[in-house]
Amino acid sequence: MGEDVTEQQQLLDAIAAEIRAHVPCGFEICEQATNLVPGEGSATAPVVVVGEAPGANEDAQGRPFVGRAGAILDDLLLAAGLAREEVFITNVVKARPPGNRDPRADEVAHHLPFLDAQLEVIRPRLLVPLGRHALKRFAPGLAIGEVHGHVIERDGRTLFPMYHPAAALHNPRLMTTLADDARALRQAL
Ligand code: URA
Repeated sequence: MGEDVTEQQQLLDAIAAEIRAHVPCGFEICEQATNLVPGEGSATAPVVVVGEAPGANEDAQGRPFVGRAGAILDDLLLAAGLAREEVFITNVVKARPPGNRDPRADEVAHHLPFLDAQLEVIRPRLLVPLGRHALKRFAPGLAIGEVHGHVIERDGRTLFPMYHPAAALHNPRLMTTLADDARALRQAL
């Protein structure tokens, strides 16, 4: 068991090293990034949280969700009974889109093998897509407004979609919904 954990961590670290070193690749999004952001957390995490793409703070530090949306995410995880170190936090796209624009479909496709490889190693019990872009990757066709805060089974995965915490920065009423959903996540666990 102990050896398995070490091996899982080594595999995850190897994926992170590959992500950090993957330029040049011809994609503006990767080549203009200060740091690519693989994600961080436990290789045996029961819960993996997946955001959209790094923002300016994440790009500067090479770590996911370290800005204002990250502070909200930390609070939500606590409300769900989870410490940040207990989960694995990452994004669909590992490089900051210039000007924080939405990632393009070809950029998402370019980055998806990284996320798939990470999930293959971690094999979490529950996956939390944050916002519509992350949800689209795991359950295309479902609307975040309809499925947030609920457990959904899709393609052999158990999903618990939530609104993106950055959305609550623009629409404070969403904060109540996010807090309710975090408590529902606690129940789901
Ligand atoms: N928003 C995201 O989707 N991911 C981050 O890492 C930070 C902000």
